[in-house]
Parts: sequence; C-alpha cells; structure tokens
Amino acid sequence: MTEEKKQKCACSGSATLIFSCSGAADTCEIADRASREIARRGCAVMSYLAGISENISGFIVSARGAERLLVVDGCKMNCALNALKEKGINDNIIHLTVTDLGFVKGKTKLSETVIKTVVCEMQKKLVEF
Ligand code: SF4
Repeated sequence: MTEEKKQKCACSGSATLIFSCSGAADTCEIADRASREIARRGCAVMSYLAGISENISGFIVSARGAERLLVVDGCKMNCALNALKEKGINDNIIHLTVTDLGFVKGKTKLSETVIKTVVCEMQKKLVEF
C-alpha cells in the first residue's frame, strides 16, 4: 500500500467501506459492533452486505469503486467475504475473522474488552494494508 493510502486511513477513511457478516451468533455481533466502532472513529464507512447479496447495483458499484474494503466475519464460514467474492468483488480486501483472534463462536460473551480487541486488530490491518 502506498504512503498516501496509509495517511488517508489515519485521518479519514472515507475511501474504505466496511462489510460485516452481522449474523445471529455472538461472534457475528462482535464483528458488527467492532465494525460500527471503527466507523464511529472515522476510519471507514459501514456498508450493507445484504445490498451486495441482493444485487442492488449501487452497493456493488460502491464496493468495486472503493479504495479498500474492510471485511469482518464472525467465523471461518466467512459469509461476508464469500458474498462479496460471489459478486466478483475480490480486490483491495482486508479480511478479519473474529474466531481467528481466539474467540470461540457460541461461547464468547460480548464485552467492551472483546470489542476493543477486535477494533485494535482491524486498525492494525488498516494501517498495514
Ligand atoms: S461468518 Fe460465521 S458468524 Fe458470521 S454470519 Fe457467517 S456463519 Fe455466522
């Protein structure tokens, strides 16, 4: 990643879209809450995974045109990543799976500490990309 992109991440992430699997499981909720926190901090803008799955053209065009996509899944099923790939959206993806951080699906209690851990990992990946 160029230095210019890194600088944009640090001050304004408007060119970065976030997609979270946002399903029903605890790790989905963690993915969703951490994504919202990243958006609240101005590092990126939340998008709408169902808009991709439902072929809503505006969402697909936005995802294809974004400088980066931060994709957060709750578990190894990687629903969000697969939904994007199914539509041919493969480029500039930064991907994170909550269970890869040691959190167990179905056994992780939501807490500020858990969300903070995921947010920190997301920020680290954004800076590294
Ligand atoms: S990625 Fe895993 S946790 Fe997220 S919606 Fe899919 S099955 Fe559920």
